Amino acid sequence: MTRTLHPHEPAARPPGAGGARAAGASGASPLGNTRRQLFRQAAERARERRDGRYRLRRRLWEFSSLAGVRRCGRVSRSEGGPTLRVSGDGVQRSAGFAGLVSCGIMSCPCCAAKVGSRRAEEIQHVVERVHAEGGSAALVTLTVRHRAGQRLAPLWDGITYAWSRVTSGRRYACEIAQFGITGWVAVVESPHGEAGWHPHRHVLVLFDTPMSQDMVTALAEGWWDRWSRALGRRGLDGIEHRGGLDVRVVRPDGSGGLGEYLSKIAHEVSGSPTKRGRRGSRTPFEILADFSATGNADDYDLWVEFEQAAQRRRTLTWGKGTRERYGLRREQSAQEIAEEDAGGDDLLGLPNETWQAVRDRAEALLAVAERDGLLGAQAWLTERGLPFTRVKARDRYDRAADAARAHHQRREARRRWRTLLGTDRAD
Ligand SMILES: [Zn+2]
Repeated sequence: MTRTLHPHEPAARPPGAGGARAAGASGASPLGNTRRQLFRQAAERARERRDGRYRLRRRLWEFSSLAGVRRCGRVSRSEGGPTLRVSGDGVQRSAGFAGLVSCGIMSCPCCAAKVGSRRAEEIQHVVERVHAEGGSAALVTLTVRHRAGQRLAPLWDGITYAWSRVTSGRRYACEIAQFGITGWVAVVESPHGEAGWHPHRHVLVLFDTPMSQDMVTALAEGWWDRWSRALGRRGLDGIEHRGGLDVRVVRPDGSGGLGEYLSKIAHEVSGSPTKRGRRGSRTPFEILADFSATGNADDYDLWVEFEQAAQRRRTLTWGKGTRERYGLRREQSAQEIAEEDAGGDDLLGLPNETWQAVRDRAEALLAVAERDGLLGAQAWLTERGLPFTRVKARDRYDRAADAARAHHQRREARRRWRTLLGTDRAD
């Protein structure tokens, strides 16, 4: 009997697709080990980013100008307090809380990341569908001239208005037919640098046939005329000669800037202060991280200006009919996405007095639950004298709880022994 090799089997599956378990099942092959290591490293990086987001949000509980953000992830939705949930196993185990207030505001580091990663997944799906159908996609970036001291809100409103002028009217209707435009999704970014706020719009435009760079450029130049004329009506203008118009065809393999675009939409906020110095351009979350680290009053003012501007404005918009065309369901609001609780089983109920003690280091409890599972989470709480309840009592949870209690009792017994014997004879 011969063994068949499957050369077309994908070499690597994304985390969550059962790849790690498959690697584990294949035994101690070097490839399996490498893959496991990669999963572990990716999980570790994701955890670090989450820690950063939790830390930033905690600072916002004190100083955000938005009441919703000050409550997000801090206040329980019910009398009984939140619950800790865990799903998955091994390196893929993930933990989260259910039953907490979520603000769904895009200047909240946690909600922005949750909402953003959902939107990035949807866009990735659309791009795959486009290419599978023989179509193509391109990224077009449209900017506005700006200077230090200009307020963010009127600039943002200016580019929103200008984009509405690009995508309406007779000329746009002609372009749809001429270029085979099937839809678009646009996102606003608002970095801040030495020349002030620089809001700009990245548009992912979709076509029903393959498009060359020249064809997309021809389309975008028509857009540019309408864009800069509309800006002019708002007392603003474009800056084409300084890279104000950037056009890139997105390749099916993801090159052409798509990965960067998606990771920006996903708000992969690190939460660490910027290292590039004060003169470089910073994203709002980098400004927040800098303020959090240094307490710089100018950074605080910039942050509050961003919070206030972003609160009433959309960062991501879909062209009419685009979602339906590519099989996406009704668009959920940021609030709806943010309010979805973590998946998995309810494991531990955290009464309000416990939650109040935990919430300032909540990411530490999540990390323990992910590393050591339920046993670890219970031991962590028990060591700190924090009561909890088991929400869903199942056999294995009961056994784990007993083991945690026994572990704690042994530690307590050792501690008492040491006290009795004197520290010099402790071990
Ligand atoms: Zn939030």
